[in-house]
Amino acid sequence: MNFLTPEQEMWRETVNRFVDDQIGREYIRKCDIDRAYPYEAYDKVAKEGWLGILFSEENGGLGGDIMDYALMCEGLSKFGFDFATGIMVATFTAMNIEKFGTDEQKERYIAPFLNGDIRFSISISEPGAGSDAASTKTRAKRDGDEWVVNGQKLWCSGGAADNAVLAMLTRTDPDAPKHKGLSVFLIPNDTEGLDIRKLPTMARRATGTTEIFVDDARIPAGALMGEENKGWDIITDHLELERVAVAAAYVGNAQTAVDDALRYAHDREQFGQSIYNFQVIKHMLADMQTQVDAARLLTYRAANMAAAKTPCLREVSMAKLFASETLQTVTRNGMQILGGHSMLPDSDMERYFREGMQSTIGGGTSQIQRTLIAKTMRL
Ligand SMILES: Cc1cc2nc3c(=O)[nH]c(=O)nc-3n(C[C@H](O)[C@H](O)[C@H](O)COP(=O)(O)OP(=O)(O)OC[C@H]3O[C@@H](n4cnc5c(N)ncnc54)[C@H](O)[C@@H]3O)c2cc1C
Repeated sequence: MNFLTPEQEMWRETVNRFVDDQIGREYIRKCDIDRAYPYEAYDKVAKEGWLGILFSEENGGLGGDIMDYALMCEGLSKFGFDFATGIMVATFTAMNIEKFGTDEQKERYIAPFLNGDIRFSISISEPGAGSDAASTKTRAKRDGDEWVVNGQKLWCSGGAADNAVLAMLTRTDPDAPKHKGLSVFLIPNDTEGLDIRKLPTMARRATGTTEIFVDDARIPAGALMGEENKGWDIITDHLELERVAVAAAYVGNAQTAVDDALRYAHDREQFGQSIYNFQVIKHMLADMQTQVDAARLLTYRAANMAAAKTPCLREVSMAKLFASETLQTVTRNGMQILGGHSMLPDSDMERYFREGMQSTIGGGTSQIQRTLIAKTMRL
């Protein structure tokens, strides 16, 4: 049913077994309750060498493709999308550095990233720049051998974690058209002039998402990634990878929501019988599994096309759209099946539901995905 090769199937099972044996649902739940970054689990993933899955073997990686990466993201988010987020945002930027970074940046960042000693976050959004991300106002001005950055960033996931380096989109030429005149800088999060605050969001409580006040932060000229004023092309280069990865991670989380709801429906008795015996519950579960299978198939199609370097904007957007809406739908139904128990953290369902609520916003909203799909449907 999965259309995976035996090697891919084995990889999928390896990641799932790792998450069961080495991480576990209680750990993920506790990080969410404590709003604590999952450092221990991140380190375990690094020790497996999986942060380098997309890097070539010559560069210390595993030489995998986007399909391998998608299978990893699906497995890592088994007990919650939030955990996979920290790994995903870090790898997206690492891949950008491999492609656009200077030799000095590769030397400085890639090996420590692969070892798990540093991690990356992406800082594009601002209070006034959401879906319209290119309307960035945060300004970087050249001053001798340095750049001086001022402005405010919002929703930078993982930005407050230890040893995080932010890939920050800034405006370097205010007179150029909106998508031009932007540049990306690699800025360690302990740089003077940055005030980073973890936000009290309803979802992504462990990895955390942050607001960042930037006040006269001075950064060296060597922190510029790629060419000056080409930042839009650089920061959007990983969008295909990002959308396939998050779609796969939504699928992983949604499957557990269905499995948990199914188990609960069998165990829970009312009116002298298992609630699974009520046809209305059975049909809800049948719909939920059908939606998850459909989301998984759309995601695998997109991942395979991306791995084959076939243009796939439409397929990737469909996967992101459908998988995020599936996570929302199945967790909402999961809440209903678990009844009052769903409200408690130890049910896990309320956490999956909260993650579902952010899934149609982060990484490009559902409205934006529909707009992208519609653009490919011209006669
Ligand atoms: C938990 C979380 C983590 C995030 N992590 C990061 C991160 O690590 N780095 C980062 O840079 N950003 C991050 N973001 C920001 C995310 O990318 C934005 O929230 C997203 O792009 C939407 O922007 P917005 O929230 O400002 O909504 P807006 O763009 O203001 O949209 C509000 C509503 O209007 C709709 N809308 C807007 N424009 C259009 C249009 N053209 N057509 C139709 N409808 C439209 C939207 O779909 C939405 O329903 C994160 C967000 C969340 C919630």
